[in-house]
Amino acid sequence: MVKITWFGHAAFKIEIANKIVLIDPWLDGNPTSSVKASEISKADIVFVTHDHGDHLGEAFTICKKTNANFAAVVELANHAKENGVKNAVGLNFGGSIEIDGVKLSIVPAVHTCSRGAPTGVIIQGEGKTVYHAGDTAFFGDMQFIGKVYKPDLALIPIGGYYTMDAKEAVEAIKLLKPKAVIPMHYKTFPVLAQSADEFVRIAKEKVPKVKVVALKPGESYQF
Ligand code: ZN
Repeated sequence: MVKITWFGHAAFKIEIANKIVLIDPWLDGNPTSSVKASEISKADIVFVTHDHGDHLGEAFTICKKTNANFAAVVELANHAKENGVKNAVGLNFGGSIEIDGVKLSIVPAVHTCSRGAPTGVIIQGEGKTVYHAGDTAFFGDMQFIGKVYKPDLALIPIGGYYTMDAKEAVEAIKLLKPKAVIPMHYKTFPVLAQSADEFVRIAKEKVPKVKVVALKPGESYQF
């Protein structure tokens, strides 16, 4: 079983292949987070999609405390090393890395950042595939992410303003064709959508075969 726990915003804990993977662990400044960084005592891999503060969050502190591997696009991994993270691995588009039975592949995201380029990530383990889209606009190559990786579960931003909104996120699902989807990156800032309601409504109408799992921060989904 793969277990996904949402901490609010783009922060997730993914328990897969008996490992704990944290994605974009922005916890302390995150007004919707159900946990603080100091409460994270165990992690094997911390992946950060891009260097904006609401995604990088407390990644370095958590890696130093738990000895987790830090993984990101190469320029961001180098920044982690400069900040004292020992096990930092940098990869780039088209590349994958396997750490302790969990395979990570970087895919593009249409967004901005200061170091390297913004990314999404494909996480594979125990025969299951999860796609975390990072911060991104809707883009046509999502169809190839769907075709090549066949995600069982997609974690996608729906909040608008900095990323896709509800309507565009449903278009993304049409291209990605996941079995299930968890919306993220909403409610955290006043400019973002304040709930997943519109997304859930449009998704049920336009992509009825896809299971929509709208979690509350702290809640989990298993498959
Ligand atoms: Zn961002």
